[in-house]
Amino acid sequence: MDADIAVIGVGAMGSMALWQLAKRGVSVLGFEQFGIGNDRSAAGGESRLFRTAYMEGKQYVPLLQDARRLWKQLEEETGNTLLTINGGLMVGDPNSIALKNVMESIKEFDLDHEVIQVNEATIRYPQFKLFSDEVMILDKNAGFIRPELAVISAAYQAEENGAVIHRFSRIDKIIPDNNGVTIVTNGKTYRVGKVLVTTGAWTKKLLPKLESKIEARRLVLTWFPAKNINQFKPANFPIFARMRKDFRLTGAPTLDGTMVKASNTKNPAEVPEPSNLNRDVSIDEIKEVSDAVKELMPGLIPDPIRASVYMDGYTADDHSIIGEIPEMKNTYLVSGFSGHGFKMAPIIGSIAADLIVNGKTAHGIGHLDVGRNLVY
Ligand SMILES: Cc1cc2nc3c(=O)[nH]c(=O)nc-3n(C[C@H](O)[C@H](O)[C@H](O)COP(=O)(O)OP(=O)(O)OC[C@H]3O[C@@H](n4cnc5c(N)ncnc54)[C@H](O)[C@@H]3O)c2cc1C
Repeated sequence: MDADIAVIGVGAMGSMALWQLAKRGVSVLGFEQFGIGNDRSAAGGESRLFRTAYMEGKQYVPLLQDARRLWKQLEEETGNTLLTINGGLMVGDPNSIALKNVMESIKEFDLDHEVIQVNEATIRYPQFKLFSDEVMILDKNAGFIRPELAVISAAYQAEENGAVIHRFSRIDKIIPDNNGVTIVTNGKTYRVGKVLVTTGAWTKKLLPKLESKIEARRLVLTWFPAKNINQFKPANFPIFARMRKDFRLTGAPTLDGTMVKASNTKNPAEVPEPSNLNRDVSIDEIKEVSDAVKELMPGLIPDPIRASVYMDGYTADDHSIIGEIPEMKNTYLVSGFSGHGFKMAPIIGSIAADLIVNGKTAHGIGHLDVGRNLVY
């Protein structure tokens, strides 16, 4: 055996799983097809939003609270600032599923928040224009994460604890059997006890039998200049998610003091072949988000000055898949985070480590079960 465990894909989930596995003292190898902290998949673009009043469902709240504790722990171990809590604004129709989920999360878990009606919202947050049918909810435990630094921090911390990570090593094949798993990279073969697949949007390439369960989808991030950038500094401007019928505008405060992230993340298009991701941003895509910014964010100048393209693995119900893959002995999957996984990466890494090392986890992940019926 070359190691007890191999983690394939060192992005958000892979780096955290490596960190957690190495901490538990097991011998672990990591394989990443690009460099660590690369922006070729789901983990680039300067910031990721952290929210606890969760529009994707209240069942995530305990995971998010545990994730926050682990973000803090990783910060303490590495000395890097990864998660900044500066609040989060959820804006939209109070009768929408998203905002109902936010309110249910708040009520069930007694989350620190404020419901801000339109008149007050436009005074407190003049960065936004609101419609009379909307409401603003301030999640006081929300904020932003630095994604590239987070992946690098977890991977290096894993190496500090004994993990060995192979960079620029794409795994081409996984061959499981009753006693372990053989994996193949660059013509070289490794033999390990168990494998954890954390390949995100690329999963269907490595595991074609999961093609009907996980799709790669393309997301475009955009940044805009401001009329007065001070209005958009983290102390004055929380992260936000603004839901309307035709778009979902999400964003973060300025982190470099020159531009503000505001992107349309609604209905990302399928990427048939992840290796051929189109990283060009079309004029139509730019115009769509520019029109939304012009209408809804009067403090921004609606000509984007930066745009970049990423992709994530999506499932049919937008919940990820976690567990041992049926009919693939000793092979575990953690994938399909459907555009909202980064914030929970440390707790998912810990859960993956629990499942692989102990065969069970104390965390509630029933909604993410690998065996559920999921077909596109
Ligand atoms: C534009 C965008 C914005 C987002 N915004 C947010 C947000 O605000 N908040 C939030 O919580 N989440 C957000 N997400 C979602 C979050 O970033 C993802 O859910 C999360 O990064 C998924 O982690 P992952 O480990 O599954 O995939 P990734 O982070 O993409 O990592 C997969 C890694 O596997 C590697 N790999 C693939 N195949 C192989 C192979 N065969 N061999 C070796 N290595 C391989 C890839 O190179 C990559 O490094 C966003 C996603 C995108 C794309």
